[in-house]
Amino acid sequence: MTSGVLAGLDRFDGLFAGAGEPLGAVVDGHWTATAGESVPVEDPATRQQLAVFGEATESDVDRAVVSAERAYREVWRDLGGVRRADVLFAVADAIRRNADVLARLETYDTGKPLKQARSDVATAARYFAFYAGHADKLYGETIPGEGDYWAYTLREPYGVVAHVTPWNSPISQMCRGVAPSLAAGNTVVVKPSEITPLSSLVAARLFVEAGLPPGVCNVVPGRGATTGAALVAHPLVEHIGFTGSVATGRRILHAAAERIVGCNLELGGKSPTIVLPDADLQAAVTAGALAVVRNAGQSCFATTRLIVHRAIADEYGARVAAAVQTLTVGPGIDDPDLGPLASAQQLAKVEAAIESGRAEGAELATGGTRPDGLDGYFLSPAVLTGVRNEMRVAQDEIFGPVQTVLAYDDVDEAVAIANHSSYGLAAGVFTRDVATAHRLARRLETGQVQINRYPMGGVETPFGGYKQSGLGREKGLAALEHYTQLKTVIVAD
Ligand code: NAP
Repeated sequence: MTSGVLAGLDRFDGLFAGAGEPLGAVVDGHWTATAGESVPVEDPATRQQLAVFGEATESDVDRAVVSAERAYREVWRDLGGVRRADVLFAVADAIRRNADVLARLETYDTGKPLKQARSDVATAARYFAFYAGHADKLYGETIPGEGDYWAYTLREPYGVVAHVTPWNSPISQMCRGVAPSLAAGNTVVVKPSEITPLSSLVAARLFVEAGLPPGVCNVVPGRGATTGAALVAHPLVEHIGFTGSVATGRRILHAAAERIVGCNLELGGKSPTIVLPDADLQAAVTAGALAVVRNAGQSCFATTRLIVHRAIADEYGARVAAAVQTLTVGPGIDDPDLGPLASAQQLAKVEAAIESGRAEGAELATGGTRPDGLDGYFLSPAVLTGVRNEMRVAQDEIFGPVQTVLAYDDVDEAVAIANHSSYGLAAGVFTRDVATAHRLARRLETGQVQINRYPMGGVETPFGGYKQSGLGREKGLAALEHYTQLKTVIVAD
């Protein structure tokens, strides 16, 4: 396990020790054997087995949650914001010091190009630094009462927060939820995707090495229907942070409803970008091409409905097609523009979506083929033109390197097309007219609007969806509101 591609992980004592033995969970700061079925982890660039983990059973999950609950009551809750901040800054430093090995691990596990994995690891560290800076600034307010009393509010943690994450950016998504949860005084149990559990397991050990008390951050590997379901249903879990598909989000919401616990849902997207005739066309072309580059298009906020004024739609479609033809495709470790898709299932789903677009009358301007000489789940980036909004390729989240170009005649129609979607995660606007840009930003029914460049935003910009794209917000200070509960103390004068 630690030779060859994953060399450098030896120092995570025990985690990858004992070649042939399945990886387990990280519970109470330690590598802990799990009792469930063995599940292989594959490198999607080569289809080779990278590792095997033992699925965390209900009793393994229980051990992790009990450990988190004990760490919450005995250590973390009462440590105080200043000391929590010190520990979280140390975690950020540890991620940065180990960035190289974490990025390589992420690349082998997810397939993403190394530079994108490095950027994800840098973002993971930044989440800890950002929220560490706020651990000692969780202020309430004072409220003057009517004459004979006054009141103040406290922002308090929930206790154990469960985080369930998807496979497209495992380490950055883990840290996006874990860092604000811990800053607010909660402890966590993380269930990463069965496809990509490696960086989350390594990160949890690294955090302990950096000074995070044992039990504050636990990771249980396993499948959603078993390990994930056991975690979100656990009676000691007081809040849930979930990132993934709408279908699973609905199940999580049902589980949360059973016990009346809160839930952040970061779900899918089909984010539109409106290109007005006065736009900087090159900037809009770059945005269209970049949407298929990040994680080979497996990105929730990728802008994949390009809604372009009819006068420029043909030229625009041709330029996006030409731009994606220059992109390189190959194993992530060689740092091309696009790596493989994450799994055989995802590749099949994306190919079926392209076929459905053609069957409904869209034109495949380029791409959509499996490149020669590569063994993994590779697909050349595709551009579909002449797409209409009622087609399935315009309505369904494809989650792969597929771009769609739609034409509109006037700006009201463009807004109507953009808003006619069950999703509402993000949207883009390209225009040189400042007033139009801000007017459209208000009219678009999405949780984020990006003007004249896409993708943009970072750890500090609140992120989350309207409509079926989710509930609540991650990132920025907004996330801290979701990982704390408000107490009002009323005092007699
Ligand atoms: P998914 O199938 O919904 O899975 C997400 C996570 O939920 C995985 O860890 C999965 O486990 C787990 N899970 C599945 N069933 C469960 C259950 N019954 N109880 C508890 N957990 C369960 O999503 P995905 O295919 O991994 O990810 C792609 C989706 O995520 C896309 O829709 C994408 O847009 C969305 N996404 C959203 C954001 C955002 O911030 N809004 C970011 C990234 C991705 P296993 O997979 O291990 O079985």
